Amino acid sequence: MTAARRAPDDPPPSGAAPSVADATARLPDPADAIERLRDWAKERLGLSLSARQVEAFAWYLDELLRRNAQQNLTAVVDPLGIAVKHFLDSLTLVPLLGQAASGRMVDVGTGAGFPGLPLRIVCPGLRLVLVEATGKKAEFCRSIVEGLGLKGVEVLHARAEEVGRDPQHRQRYDVATARAVAALPVLLEYLLPLVRVGGRVLALKGENAAVEAHGSQRALELLGGRLQQLHPVELPGVAEPRYIVEVEKTAATSEIYPRRTGIPAKRPLAD
Ligand code: SAH
Repeated sequence: MTAARRAPDDPPPSGAAPSVADATARLPDPADAIERLRDWAKERLGLSLSARQVEAFAWYLDELLRRNAQQNLTAVVDPLGIAVKHFLDSLTLVPLLGQAASGRMVDVGTGAGFPGLPLRIVCPGLRLVLVEATGKKAEFCRSIVEGLGLKGVEVLHARAEEVGRDPQHRQRYDVATARAVAALPVLLEYLLPLVRVGGRVLALKGENAAVEAHGSQRALELLGGRLQQLHPVELPGVAEPRYIVEVEKTAATSEIYPRRTGIPAKRPLAD
């Protein structure tokens, strides 16, 4: 990246305030944002996006911008923010997938499709189930899956607590993932029941990851998991530390879990 950077409070180089036209010219348009996504995916994650994948991200971004104007799907509304904080952040899981890239994955509380849908765009063999409690968000995910013609993706308008008790889904997944859904002890009660023994939880977490992991010993014991590693993640232009929390499923989860809807969040299995 060669673009010159200026501290936000430096005076503009000319000494004059930039005109409105200049200011807007500095904002990357959707095509620029996707171009940068392609470069970052290559540089940071070693992922070469194909022309079709780049097109898929461009269309997904347009749909997010268009639909977000009508309904509140995501707090991030600028093209570059979406490229970095949604698409690239989701893709940081790819290097950790290994064989699971063509396995079964469940993404719980996916919202507008994160991290599941970007992962499916770059991993065509991934069999993906998206779980989302809010109907309009699940509907949006369905429209993206259809619009992009993604095969092997199912969208469930449901609560994690219900899906985790359903024999069709319970202990069936190689990987369960989530971002920005709940604190780790709560999240583990949503995710671990869905994972087969030997499978993994890969949770995208912010700066509290280590504290939350330390407070999850009891949840791990009760649910049959073992903390493997906290992988630090860096995103361009994002200062706050981020981590991927990797947990291995070591033993079958007791039938008691997940408890009924609302209870995991109300009475977390915290230490
Ligand atoms: N993962 C997305 C959305 C985060 S917002 C992202 O990172 O952008 C959290 C989402 O989780 C919301 O859309 C909310 O409806 C959903 N959610 C929260 N608790 C849930 C539960 N128990 N089961 C299913 N979805 C849940």
